[in-house]
Amino acid sequence: MNKEEVESIGDNHIGSNIDTPLLPNAFDKSDDEKIKNIQHHFGKIMTELGLDLADDSLSGTPYRFAKMYVKELFYGLNPKNKPKLSTFENKYGYQKMLVEQNITIDSACEHHFLPITGYAHIAYIPEERVIGLSKINRLVDYYSHRPQVQERLSLQIFNDLKSVLGTDNIIVLISAKHLCVSSRGIKDKNSFTSTLEYGGLFEDKSNRDEFFKILDQKEQNL
Ligand SMILES: [Zn+2]
Repeated sequence: MNKEEVESIGDNHIGSNIDTPLLPNAFDKSDDEKIKNIQHHFGKIMTELGLDLADDSLSGTPYRFAKMYVKELFYGLNPKNKPKLSTFENKYGYQKMLVEQNITIDSACEHHFLPITGYAHIAYIPEERVIGLSKINRLVDYYSHRPQVQERLSLQIFNDLKSVLGTDNIIVLISAKHLCVSSRGIKDKNSFTSTLEYGGLFEDKSNRDEFFKILDQKEQNL
């Protein structure tokens, strides 16, 4: 790829695959080994920028940076950290919409490694299985904590819920701000991006309208 193509993929926020592109040996090394190596490389980047790592304020930064990447911001790369999505038999026969809204999105764009922040709103209409509410939040948190493109994030959440719940009756709306749009490039401070993925009974416009109407309710009404 030439430099122009590299810039164009970043500026247009184009992803190439539903699966996060991972190397086959992505998790052969332990977290501690990864932290040690990233610490080394990030120290080099800081030095290259001209920063003096002997300064007390900067000397611990490469380690803090490396630990933050492996253990916090990108913990969701490693499948061993995936939350267990236990489901239960829909014993009470609930067959209407369940909406989990204002789920925090803390992610990072894979083209610039800058924050993506916003909210996910998710609903499903159960068939045989139901899921614990917090599990939906945990799933969003897990997939958010890896370098992402917003479309892929929506699809990864949608597809996992589909497989554990055994139904297509799912809708995932994500609205988020991308710092790579607001702080660099076009520097638009106000725009945000929404992605919508749905299937099954949400193909029916009246169900989507009901979902959007519920989202209009504000927390203070509760
Ligand atoms: Zn970006």
